[in-house]
Amino acid sequence: MTTRIRRYVETDTGHRVPNHKSKCRHFHGHRYRFEAEIEGDIVETSGVSEEGMLMDFSDVSQILTVHIHDVVDHAFVVYEGDEEARVVLSGLSSDHRTVIVPFIPTAENLAKWAFEQVQPHIQTAYGNRLRLVAMHVRETPKSWASWYE
Ligand SMILES: [Zn+2]
Repeated sequence: MTTRIRRYVETDTGHRVPNHKSKCRHFHGHRYRFEAEIEGDIVETSGVSEEGMLMDFSDVSQILTVHIHDVVDHAFVVYEGDEEARVVLSGLSSDHRTVIVPFIPTAENLAKWAFEQVQPHIQTAYGNRLRLVAMHVRETPKSWASWYE
């Protein structure tokens, strides 16, 4: 028997899908939601701050903020193989937030990326077998992708 918790962070992030058959090839952005799903046992250690929890929600939030939000919020995520977009972005001032990634920045690929950013930081503190089981990415209110380990 295990319990699962979820916590999310939201970002305003630009991207494009360079070889998309329709409008997604244009420069545009989304209000992304990156939602971590964590599994484990409830902490039973008496008197500790996390007693009765899997992990403190604020600690999950801090990890999501540092390793996802602060990386891609108000940034443009571009595929390293998207030469056309990279030329445009390289013409902007040097402080423009461009994040070059080795994959086409679809919701599916961003979910895998976000999982990999967060996973090393979900650590068991009280022997309660914590692990990140999934990262869910909402690209639009109707569109989600999930990456499971
Ligand atoms: Zn899009």
